[in-house]
Amino acid sequence: MTAPSVTITSRGVERLASGHVWIYRSDVAPSAGAEPGVVRMVDSKNCFCGQALYSAQSQIALRFLTREARPFDAAFLAERILAAARFRRQVAAGAQAFRLVAAEGDLLPSLIVDRYGDCLVIQTLSQGMDRLKSTVVEVLQKELAPRSILERNDAAVRALEGLPEQTGVLAGEDASEVVVEENGVKMCFDLRYGQKTGGYLDQRENRAAAANYARGRALDCFTYTGGFALTLAPHCESVLGIDSSADALKQAQRSRELNGFRNLEWKEANCFDFLKAADQEKQRFDMVVIDPPAFARQKSSHDSALRGYKELNLRALKILNPGGYLVTCSCSFHVSEADLLEVVAEAALDAHRTVAVVERRTQSRDHPILLTVPETHYLKCLILRVL
Ligand code: SAH
Repeated sequence: MTAPSVTITSRGVERLASGHVWIYRSDVAPSAGAEPGVVRMVDSKNCFCGQALYSAQSQIALRFLTREARPFDAAFLAERILAAARFRRQVAAGAQAFRLVAAEGDLLPSLIVDRYGDCLVIQTLSQGMDRLKSTVVEVLQKELAPRSILERNDAAVRALEGLPEQTGVLAGEDASEVVVEENGVKMCFDLRYGQKTGGYLDQRENRAAAANYARGRALDCFTYTGGFALTLAPHCESVLGIDSSADALKQAQRSRELNGFRNLEWKEANCFDFLKAADQEKQRFDMVVIDPPAFARQKSSHDSALRGYKELNLRALKILNPGGYLVTCSCSFHVSEADLLEVVAEAALDAHRTVAVVERRTQSRDHPILLTVPETHYLKCLILRVL
């Protein structure tokens, strides 16, 4: 069965030619009343331009799949998933929890598959991919034989697609809490009720990188389930992890116990308030990690986001000992690395500290960045040293 055709405008054709993978509704001919799912894209002269996933509701009408004309069926989907899995064997070798399929980054638009040990958690975040959900589950079962496949389709972006929020078991056991080892440390994740699919897998390499500089007294702001704090603990005298979520800290405490770390404490607090008080009390640390949630989810919040980053980094720099390290992150796509560097530079000037850039990092490699799709580069992580 051939897929239905959707006509795209010359601007849509140009967008594809520029290497982008999204075509907006305004670049799709208005006559296109196609059903969500796989479609053939054609230009105004009815020439084939490739296949895409069509969404009838979202502003992103088409998500590019392939330039090839052969049917995008279960076999094609399996090829893509297996190619993604092969790449992870290179870049996530030895990791027990990682992103197996990173949506656009693996040319499987709006499909997330996260692996936690022998459990998989999936998200289908557009109408087109949602229609392929049962095929995705079949392929994953056949190719990877996981103990469990859960769906965490409670992501807010589904509302833009007119899709309901839903979670549950799609295959196998109802796995909820899993323990995996990351960078030699045991970590406990709640796949059913934790944030995202349970954990922030995109910070795995940055957590390991931070540990290379850790010593003395460390502070992990926005610790969630203790990701950085647990990784730093074996290298430090003491570590304090702060988060506003009591549920996340419960999970962090479970991991602390599993590892038998005695030098690790948690505090439920707003990090802005905590940092301000720590500065006033003249507390001092040898490493401070700042990993807040995205402050700029829209372009319009760019400036207010920068003010947030400035305040956090200013306070963090003030409470660092000479020779200490700041690990500062932004997961807002709308805040560039240049923006973050500038904000931290301003903070350093205000704090009267001289600061060197030790490492400029990004998301872990299992979250691929497509050269021609800037949106796929969202996470920035700077490791800085106070002289
Ligand atoms: N560093 C973590 C991920 C952090 S995600 C890791 O490596 O796994 C961001 C966290 O910030 C979430 O856990 C959220 O609960 C917390 N958070 C959001 N706003 C906060 C605030 N103002 N103060 C403290 N924690 C906050």
